[in-house]
This record gives sequence, C-alpha cells and structure tokens, in this order.
Amino acid sequence: MNDKKPFEIARETLKQLTARKLAPTPANYQVIYSEVAGVPTEPPFPVERLRVIAQALPTKTPGQQKQRGLLDSAITQLNWDGVKNALMAYGGFSPPAAAPVAASALALLAPLPDTASTAVTAPALTADFLEQIARLIEYALPALGTDDARFSEQSQALLQAMRQPGADVLAVKLMLSNFGNRLSFAAEDQAEIKVTLLRLLHLIIENIGELSLDDRWLTGQIDALMTASAPPLSLRRLDDVERRLKDVIFKQTEAKGRALEAQEDMRQMLATFIERLSQMTESTGTYQGKMEENARLIEQAKTMADITPVLKDVVGATRSMAHDSLMARDELRGMREKAQATEAELVKLHQELDRVSALARHDSLTGALNRKGLDEALERELSNVRRKDTPLCMAMLDIDNFKKLNDTLGHVAGDAALTHLATVAREAMRPQDTLARYGGEEFVILLPDTSLDNGIEAMTRLQRELTKHFFLAGTEKVLITFSAGVAQLATDESGLDAIKRADQAMYLAKRAGKNRVLGA
Ligand code: GH3
Ligand code: MG
Ligand code: MG
Repeated sequence: MNDKKPFEIARETLKQLTARKLAPTPANYQVIYSEVAGVPTEPPFPVERLRVIAQALPTKTPGQQKQRGLLDSAITQLNWDGVKNALMAYGGFSPPAAAPVAASALALLAPLPDTASTAVTAPALTADFLEQIARLIEYALPALGTDDARFSEQSQALLQAMRQPGADVLAVKLMLSNFGNRLSFAAEDQAEIKVTLLRLLHLIIENIGELSLDDRWLTGQIDALMTASAPPLSLRRLDDVERRLKDVIFKQTEAKGRALEAQEDMRQMLATFIERLSQMTESTGTYQGKMEENARLIEQAKTMADITPVLKDVVGATRSMAHDSLMARDELRGMREKAQATEAELVKLHQELDRVSALARHDSLTGALNRKGLDEALERELSNVRRKDTPLCMAMLDIDNFKKLNDTLGHVAGDAALTHLATVAREAMRPQDTLARYGGEEFVILLPDTSLDNGIEAMTRLQRELTKHFFLAGTEKVLITFSAGVAQLATDESGLDAIKRADQAMYLAKRAGKNRVLGA
C-alpha cells in the first residue's frame, strides 16, 4: 500500500490508461487502479449475479426477510464479508456478526471473570442456562405437532447434546441454529393449518345454517357462531363456539326427529285421502250409470209391474250411494281431525323447541348466556383463578325503571331494549369477558384478570357507551341506564357468594339514586 490520496490514484490511473493506450473499460480501470494504489488486483464484484442469487432465496419468515435485507445491502455496498455472513445465516450457520442473539448467548456461556463479586462459577451457569433453553424447547415442541419425524429426531438430539455434562457449546450452537430454522418453517405450517381449519369450520357452520329449519333461534345461533369463530381466536372463544355448536346440534336433532314424524303422518293421510277420493269417483260413476239405465227403463215401462223392480233398484243404488257418501264424510271428518291434531302437534313442537332452547346455554332473546351457561362459564373462570391466581370480577347490572319503559312503549319495545343493551355490552366488553342474562332485566358480566377498580371502570365505560348508542323505539330515541354492583372474588369465596355481594352492591346503587356503579 502506498500513501497516495484516492484522487491522486484516480488521476494517475487515468493517465496510465491513456499512456498505455488501454480501452477505458471498468475492468482495465480497476487493474491499473490497484497497480497504482499498490493493492492486489481483485476480480470485479459480480453485483448482478449476486442479485439474481439473492432474489432466488426465500423470504417467508421474518428471519429470512432480515437476512435477505442484510444480503441486499451487502451486495449494494460490494461487501463480501456481509454477503458471506448473510448466506451462512440462510444455511443455518449463524456467523457471530449477523446473529447478535447467538453472540450474546455465547457471551453468557463464556467463563465469567474470576472476581470477588462473582458468586456463581462459570460451569454451573452454563449447565443451568442450557437446561433453561432445553426446557423452553420441550415446552414449545407439543405445539408443533409430531408429524415431522425428522424434526422430532433433530429436537431430541439437540436436547441430548444440551444436557450432556460438559456440552460442546459450539456444536450445540450450530444445532440450535438449525433447530431455529426448522422451527420457523414448522410455525409457518401451524399458522397455515390454523387458517385452513378455521375456513373449514366456517364452511361447516354455514352448511348447518343452510340445512336448518326455519327457526329464529337457530339462525341467531349460526350468526353468533360465525362471529365467535372469527380470528383472533382464544381458548375462551373456542369454548364458546363448542358450547354453541352443541346447542345447535342438540336442538336440530330434536327438531329433525319430530318434523320427520309429523311429515310421515301427513304423508299417510294424503295417501288415504287420495284412495278415498278415487273410490268415491268410482261409486259416483256407477251410481250415475245405474240411474241413467233406470231412467231409460222407466221411460220404456208400460205397467206398474215393470216399474216396481226398477224402483227397487233405484232405492238400493241410492241407499248404497248414501252409505258410501256417509262413510266418505266420516272418513274425511276423521282425517280433518287428524290434520288438526298434527297441526297442533307442530305448534307444540315449536313450543317445545323453545323450551329446549331455554334448557340450552344461551338466552333466546338476547343471545347472552342464560343461567345454565353462566354456571358453566363461572366454573371455567374459577378454575382459571385457581390455576393462575389472577383476580376475577363479577358485575350485576339491572336496568333502571324498566317497568316504566314496558308500560309506555310496550313489551315488544322492552324486548328490543334488552337486546340493545346486550349488543352494546358485548361491543364494549373484551373478548374474554362473559355476558349472561341473570333474570328479566338483570345481567351478570364476568370480568377475568380484572381487579375491583378496573371492574368498576369497565361498568362505567359501558354506561358511557349506552349514552352514545341510544336505543331506538321506532323513531324515538330512548336512553337506557342501569345500576350495577361489582365484586371481586375473594379468596375461598364461591362464585355464587361473589355474585350475591355484587347484587347487594347493585341494590345499594338503586337506593342511592340509580344510574351508578358501586363496588362491593
Ligand atoms: P328499578 O329501576 O328499581 O330496577 O325498576 P324496574 O322497573 O326496572 O324494576 P322492576 O323489577 O320493578 O321491573 C322489572 C320489569 O321488567 C318487570 C317485568 O315486566 C319486566 N321484564 C322482565 N323480563 C322481561 C322481558 O323479557 N321482556 C320485557 N319486555 N320486560 C321484561
Ligand atoms: Mg330487576
Ligand atoms: Mg330494573
């Protein structure tokens, strides 16, 4: 290397190119430049070819996208080291410079300086650290399924290597890097599987909707199912989907059995009716033929003695016709009664279906959980509290002056007001919260992972939402208000006792002037 400045080297290079009568191509320029600068001649940097290679590399995972970005900028900067590091990272051989996480992990694994303040010795830290990562891997594995045998083998080998006394850190690092790559592919697969399963679930729900009898409750449930099964999914929402599907299937099976019975009855009656009708036409035809014949005989008769047998015949045929008609009338009457009974049966069936839906877990008017649904949801939340030791709040709310609303606007508007409240509440709540209709115009809301203060705040927010979203009774805007009590589940307290405390606080809120939220 000489100490010429870059512009001097460039000027000298151009001079030499002219002096030696060389064509001013980039290649010639580079050769002379290196010669003048006193550095070894490097072959030109193949930017275009490298770009073609870069473009052929996958960019599916965030890791791949990052490496691709590093590779692109290394090519732009004509930086061979950068290119090398990025390509190694693609192949799973993380170079220290391109993988800061791996680098810091190594730093942790390196022996600690032997100072007085260092209580833990390096080998203990290494084994402990490796054990932590091994456990992390073990926890992650079940979520990735067991379909890929090679991946399972690779994971087991990695775990074994990590738990070996005096583990070969460099070998483990390489294995970890490969594992990371496969993990990103497996995670991608899992995400795709989830999306596909969701699509299938939607198809099934849609199909159930198509097959359903004309039933308002069922249609409502199908809509709710569609909404509940839309991403983002959580275990709670899946649980809700499962319960709703169970209700739908139960109710549909009932409905189908009863409807088939009614259909069979109708079919049999129709067959009898047609048979009877054809018999009647036949006997009427015979009667008419006989009458015509008798009329002709009477015309031709000369004496009473000629007429007597004809008259006997007429009387006989008429009697038989009357008998047939009477039979037909009785039979038709019987059939009509049976048809009426079948119709009554169908009405009963509808009523029974409504009863069944009451036995199910959702309230048919508002779509909120009913008491049975609330009991189940409460049980689930209580077991969560026991497992995770997180706070759980329950709110009891009761609409203010609802009787007056019913009296002035009518019961139908009252029903619509209840549905309105449930809709606004569902929109204002978090997905993990549970809304249940506790009684006529009383609702319970379960608020998991919520302290008392936050529970009171959530109910106050719902009050505000109701002032923003008026209930429309025809064209009249009606403001619905409620009073609420909120209780946080105490240690060793039962869910019902906590609801009771929330109810008492709600009662106090009524006494204090309504339209307010009180903590228990
Ligand atoms: P307060 O502010 O003290 O709560 O008074 P309120 O009028 O809301 O309470 P009250 O308990 O006196 O009346 C509740 C009314 O709610 C009585 C009942 O007719 C009505 N109700 C209960 N269930 C339904 C329902 O499903 N639909 C309709 N429209 N009304 C209902
Ligand atoms: Mg009430
Ligand atoms: Mg009330």
